[in-house]
Amino acid sequence: MAFKNFVASQPRKESDQLNELSKLIYEARARISFIISSGLYLIRVKNLARVRLKNLTKRFGEVVAVNDVSLDVEDKEFLVLLGPSGCGKTTTLRCVAGLETPDTGEIYIGDTLVNELPPKDRDVAMVFQSYALYPHMKVFDNIAFPLKMRKVPKSEIEERVKRVAELLKITHLLNRKPKQLSGGEAQRTALGRAIVRDPRVFLMDEPLSNLDAKLRIYMRAELKRLQKDLGVTTVYVTHDQVEAMTMAERIAIMNYGVLQQLATPDKVYDNPQSLFVAGFIGSPPMNFIDCTFMEKSGECFIDAGVFTFPIPDAIGHAVKQQATSSKLILGVRPEDILVHKKRVPEANVEGEVYVLEPLGSEIVLDLKVGENLIKVKTPPDFRVNTGDRAWLSFDTNRIHAFDKKTEKAIV
Ligand code: ATP
Repeated sequence: MAFKNFVASQPRKESDQLNELSKLIYEARARISFIISSGLYLIRVKNLARVRLKNLTKRFGEVVAVNDVSLDVEDKEFLVLLGPSGCGKTTTLRCVAGLETPDTGEIYIGDTLVNELPPKDRDVAMVFQSYALYPHMKVFDNIAFPLKMRKVPKSEIEERVKRVAELLKITHLLNRKPKQLSGGEAQRTALGRAIVRDPRVFLMDEPLSNLDAKLRIYMRAELKRLQKDLGVTTVYVTHDQVEAMTMAERIAIMNYGVLQQLATPDKVYDNPQSLFVAGFIGSPPMNFIDCTFMEKSGECFIDAGVFTFPIPDAIGHAVKQQATSSKLILGVRPEDILVHKKRVPEANVEGEVYVLEPLGSEIVLDLKVGENLIKVKTPPDFRVNTGDRAWLSFDTNRIHAFDKKTEKAIV
């Protein structure tokens, strides 16, 4: 109103200009609102296959299998649920599939709250460790089964099964029964049955664990590539950290039903948020050494009893800010330690070679340092013998410190 009065009180020329200006502003606003609403529409379409868990809890009597887990799986993402046996991975997956009913919490697929939807209406396809193929049906019929259940016309079924079989390179097996298949072929058939439905989400529960080591490594890469090509949002359960590291876009690490960390493989490896995650990811695992934080003449040190060494100021500062006491656990990955055969100024940790583990491409040395056994990766031509003395230097830019009481990472 005030704007209109102002316009009316201006001389004609100026008022025309202001009218022109207000028209431009009006049009610009209309355009912006169109762009925003189209953007929102695109985001909505793009997020159709997002999976969202909000405060999911599932109990079996006294056991809290899944404890207040919240996480988002992005559209087309390959997310791995990783953790030790019994940590609640399968139960989480089964809740998403609709095979378990959560006690509390919400599950969204796309924008839809699916808690009340039966499994068949969730548009997800599950691949199990056991493959769960029908033994009396040929491979063709096993793959075709979900389409027959949905009363898809016969000609379309034939077309889709053919296409999936070509994709998985199992066309020549379509007339065989499951007992005539190798583990890898049975696994592909189970995958085919999931893919043929063209679901919004794949849920995979340790699908490679029945395969021998060599085939598992091969299928790992195949499955990763297939998921990328199909662009289907995937939640994949495994207890194998190498599988998780090599396949996942992001890893959700669980322990005792609780989500410990959700991040990219690099991030969980380089910046584990807890002692549990640090020890679970990496092979050989991170070395942990009980120690005490000290400050002398403005310099910060780590004192492990059998050795002491200075730490960068930034680490000292973080410890002073975050630690609940001076009791820490030092974490060092085997590849972040240098072994010297002679005493050198930068190597302030002295140990004795306890065991050598040659792996062809490298040697893992186990060194006894006081009561600690420290694993170190060395090049394959590094020559030492059991019982030799050796001196270690830790890469202080890559060491980790955990609060002894809370087991949370400080750095
Ligand atoms: P694994 O890798 O061994 O399959 P997991 O991480 O997938 O383990 P879940 O199978 O989800 O773990 O089990 C989580 C916890 O819930 C375990 O303590 C398990 O014993 C318990 N549990 C799972 N299913 C049931 C059930 N139907 N009845 C009772 N307890 C169950």
